[in-house]
Amino acid sequence: MLEKYEKAGKIAAKIRKQAAKKATAGMKVIDLVDWIESEIKSTGAGLSFPCNVSINQIAAHYTSPPGDDTVLCNGDIVKIDLGAEVDGYISDTAVTVIIEGDNIDPVDEDGKPLKMPGRLDNGNPTVTEDELQQRYEIEDASRSALENAISIIKDGVSLNDIGNEVQSTMQEKGYNPIVNLTGHSLEKNDLHAGISIPNYPDGNDYQLKEGDHIAVEPFATSGVGIVNDVPEAYIYSYIQNRPLRQPDAKRLLKNIANNFKYFPFAKRHLLEGYDAHSLNRAMRPLITSRAIYPYNALKEKTDAMVAQTEHTIIVEKDGCNVTTL
Ligand code: MN
Ligand code: MN
Repeated sequence: MLEKYEKAGKIAAKIRKQAAKKATAGMKVIDLVDWIESEIKSTGAGLSFPCNVSINQIAAHYTSPPGDDTVLCNGDIVKIDLGAEVDGYISDTAVTVIIEGDNIDPVDEDGKPLKMPGRLDNGNPTVTEDELQQRYEIEDASRSALENAISIIKDGVSLNDIGNEVQSTMQEKGYNPIVNLTGHSLEKNDLHAGISIPNYPDGNDYQLKEGDHIAVEPFATSGVGIVNDVPEAYIYSYIQNRPLRQPDAKRLLKNIANNFKYFPFAKRHLLEGYDAHSLNRAMRPLITSRAIYPYNALKEKTDAMVAQTEHTIIVEKDGCNVTTL
């Protein structure tokens, strides 16, 4: 079991590092997520969830829909969050990169503006030197908070102590944690098992034990530190079988139950036998009948920039084993 957790961790860590270098201005988000996911699968591992690429004010849960034209732009602060799964044993890890390189003209061959659901701007942002500097600081606040949290994790550490370490590290640097996003415990075939790991001291005295598997993921921001749902969802998970009338919807749910019983998925993963339009039509009754659950993308409430850093960790007697280093 430990071996499988470590293997899933090593695969995700290696691909995370390569992806951080690959992400440059002008690159389409869909090309980045497709590359990351095919690299994970090429090792024989599965995906713990669709690779998330969340840009600037979007904190989490963005992944490309089919045909996504969203591009990365110079100065973007981009959260790349990915995970591998080996026989049900999971890794979950994220890095934040500040994008460098030359922007492309955000229009298609006919000169029409590209549709970029992954951006709150039109793909032609201007980022001042001061704003850029601040984005590097937000990234540092998130990364340092995770490092400091890891330094205190061992058998008996309380959730409150971890949250306190995260928040105080960020606040010393002038930034805030996002309080309504948390880390989580991991179990076989379960990405979000029972325990939530807070990013602020929430008063929870619950103590972690040797052998616990957790993902710790401090999100730092220059804003108030709250995220809200945006109306759109790009990631889904299977809930239960439901009686459905439309043959297309029936067939789709069967495919989801067969291939994504435990782990979240994206529309991109369901295109076999559908085009984007017929897939949307088949998915609607699955959502309304609560056969699948949509995870809306999450945006910082005050439209401030957000960074995230995440590792998967096994708690030990006198310290911890970070599987995704
Ligand atoms: Mn993650
Ligand atoms: Mn996570």
